[in-house]
Amino acid sequence: MRKLAAGNWKMNGTSADLAEASALKAAHPAPGVDILLCPPATLLSRLSDSVGATIATGGQDCHAAASGAHTGDISAPMLADAGASHVILGHSERRTDHAETDADVHAKTQAALAAGLTALVCVGETQAQREAGKTLDVVGRQLAGSVPDSATAATLVIAYEPVWAIGSGRVPTLEQIAEVHDFIRGELTARFGADARAMRLLYGGSVKPANAAEIFAISNVDGALVGGASLKARDFSAIVTALENAAPD
Ligand code: PEP
Repeated sequence: MRKLAAGNWKMNGTSADLAEASALKAAHPAPGVDILLCPPATLLSRLSDSVGATIATGGQDCHAAASGAHTGDISAPMLADAGASHVILGHSERRTDHAETDADVHAKTQAALAAGLTALVCVGETQAQREAGKTLDVVGRQLAGSVPDSATAATLVIAYEPVWAIGSGRVPTLEQIAEVHDFIRGELTARFGADARAMRLLYGGSVKPANAAEIFAISNVDGALVGGASLKARDFSAIVTALENAAPD
């Protein structure tokens, strides 16, 4: 499977930041891994046009309906029309800020697949859940509730993002990451059989150029979902290079 370096710009970026995507493309004209940038929706179309086939683009959320009276929302077909091939769903900031449930994420993931998008579904425990020894329960429940049966290795990517590691500079130990990624692979295999071996599992949460290589050396880590360090081409490029240099699983 090709590994994946995905950048989530969140609510950051205006026209001037399109130059960062162009610089990333210039640094990786023929990348050895898949690169995905998920800018704010306002930049999606222009960024997709400018980075072309070298870098895939994605939305950061979509509505479960294809169209309708939902002021401010964006549907999966609209993302596809703007050039997106992927969409991030169930990010912990959506789950927290917008009270999204696993059922919501499930419905949005179905909508994404119906629109021909690959869904990048996020799961992960809070600090309190980890301290209570509930990490695998929480992740297992989120996976079961958020991922529809129709998902395949071509249309589903899972990002394990401990909520407490996002934007905090705190990273789980390599053993903790390995434990959860092995667990996710097992859960997906129990549900999807052999196809699960090709489903990409990303780690997300304070991935930086300085820690990327050691994270990418963990088995069942097939790439990263990167927030803050994806905003600047120089940082994200270093992470892409670390992923290109990682030994195959
Ligand atoms: C994220 O929000 O998906 C994320 C991983 O953010 P950061 O890399 O900034 O921790």
